[in-house]
Amino acid sequence: MLFIDKNSFISSLNAYIDPLYPVDKAIITHAHADHAKPNHQCVLATEDTINIMKIRYGSSCAKNFQIIKYGERIYSNGIYITFFPAGHILGSAQVLFQKKGYKILVTGDYKTISDNTAQRFELVKTNTIITESTFGLPIFKHPNPLEETKKILFSLEQNPDCNHLIGAYSLGKAQRIIKLLRELGHTEEIYIHGSIKKISDYYSEKNIKLGRLIQANAENAKNIKGKIIIAPPAALKDIWSRKFKNLKIGYASGWMIIKQRAKQKLIELPIVVSDHADWTELKNTIIASEAENVLITHGQEDCLKYWCKKRNINADALIKNDIK
Ligand SMILES: [Zn+2]
Repeated sequence: MLFIDKNSFISSLNAYIDPLYPVDKAIITHAHADHAKPNHQCVLATEDTINIMKIRYGSSCAKNFQIIKYGERIYSNGIYITFFPAGHILGSAQVLFQKKGYKILVTGDYKTISDNTAQRFELVKTNTIITESTFGLPIFKHPNPLEETKKILFSLEQNPDCNHLIGAYSLGKAQRIIKLLRELGHTEEIYIHGSIKKISDYYSEKNIKLGRLIQANAENAKNIKGKIIIAPPAALKDIWSRKFKNLKIGYASGWMIIKQRAKQKLIELPIVVSDHADWTELKNTIIASEAENVLITHGQEDCLKYWCKKRNINADALIKNDIK
């Protein structure tokens, strides 16, 4: 009863989910660049996803945009479509398709733990779950994000003269780290890289309070001392970061749990904060969804597939073809 193919194409809707190339109809789970591409004819997504796409790619980055609210049910050619919060970043969604009573859930990227910068993950029951598996190995157990973020403040306390430059992906992770710092009581201004500004402004408009943010530039960089600076990971080692004095470099990512990676990247302050489900969350979500069929994509497929099979749950890797 699978009415979706391995390229995440649903023929009766003539729509792709998160297509990597321009198509007629795109159903987009969230605005990260590996899911949301510009130049589709029609985009169906949440309002936040559409707004963030417009910020990143320009207001005419698709011909037509159709907003769908969480929980709203759209009917098209025999299929009901419903979006549910995925808890990954602001506006992120899981998408449920229902045809003649059979349900297929596409999780997109998701996490189930709380995050005050994203709509809270909602559990959805389904027949087939197409799950991400970025951290689909038992070694991945994400620590408490507040405890991890505390490491930045602790280091700042120990090294009050050092600027702490923290790498964080510009959409989602940067705002989450800033918010976590605020929740930990850090009230001082936080400096940000220019590429983080527009998205952070959008989050603030949505009442996600990020406190006072200042865009770092060559001028104010000279006088910054003992401050936190948030920049996309690519900026950590490039010429942009050279204008700051006395730097300690950190990096906020789920991958920082692999100490070797932190060492390779010369990261002094690895902050293990992830916006993806860890191994336990992946397993628990599959069980709680009551899915009898699991398709695994975006990451480490084999281990999760093996785990499903041991529990007598039908499972396979969903390997995308190049659709162009
Ligand atoms: Zn994502």
